[in-house]
Amino acid sequence: MRLRGVFLLSLLVFLGSCATSPTGRKQLLLGGNSEVDQMGVKAFSDLKQSTPIETSSSINRYVRCITDALQREAGSSGQWEVVVFRDKAINAFALPGGKIGVYTGILPVANTQDRLAAVLGHEIAHVLSQHGNERMSQQTAVSQGLDLINAMVKPQTQGGQTALGLLGLGAQVGILLPYSRIQESEADTLGVKLMAQAGFDPRESVVLWQRMNQANEAQPFEFLSTHPANTTRISDLNKNMAQAMSIYQQAQRQGKRPNCR
Ligand SMILES: [Zn+2]
Repeated sequence: MRLRGVFLLSLLVFLGSCATSPTGRKQLLLGGNSEVDQMGVKAFSDLKQSTPIETSSSINRYVRCITDALQREAGSSGQWEVVVFRDKAINAFALPGGKIGVYTGILPVANTQDRLAAVLGHEIAHVLSQHGNERMSQQTAVSQGLDLINAMVKPQTQGGQTALGLLGLGAQVGILLPYSRIQESEADTLGVKLMAQAGFDPRESVVLWQRMNQANEAQPFEFLSTHPANTTRISDLNKNMAQAMSIYQQAQRQGKRPNCR
């Protein structure tokens, strides 16, 4: 039995690819990019069916202005689809397949363009680093063959819900699967770089996480369960701030001065 498990695991590792994340870390990726992208597209489409969409053109223009500036730096092909959901949850996410969701409830917390860019830069960085695929691959390896990618087509089942949570929709489906500290730190490093390159003030990332913590003290919300805003995060952000500032200043010299309102 034990041998069989080892065999299955080695088969999975063999079938999957050992990739390298944007910060140079080795990753186990079992799912293909196109399969994981399709999962993102499907999950997003389901969410649009079930959640009211904000129609205010000024709010949509404002969010779009920020995501456009970030997307130009993300180097991803194709236009990302951005949807603002009219929902008081303090939440935002990005999904493989080029999807970004912003809940109106996060706007009073991430209450400036730089602070919202900090949240979205972080979420986009999770996607660019393929953390959803990595988490599903780790889970699949541990459970010896539970096929989460197929489970995804049945979102009502437990496997489907787990797959959604691992993909980055934990707060939506109420499955609290925190990213690992390594993944969170990677998303911070890359996310802050992304916002700074786009001309958003990286110092505001620290203010953002402080504001998240304050909001959480008043009324706990699920986004922070999957992305804990602990002191490690804030001190790491501060540690890397000099580098982020030099990227920001260079972006400013290049005329990248977003003015989203
Ligand atoms: Zn995160």
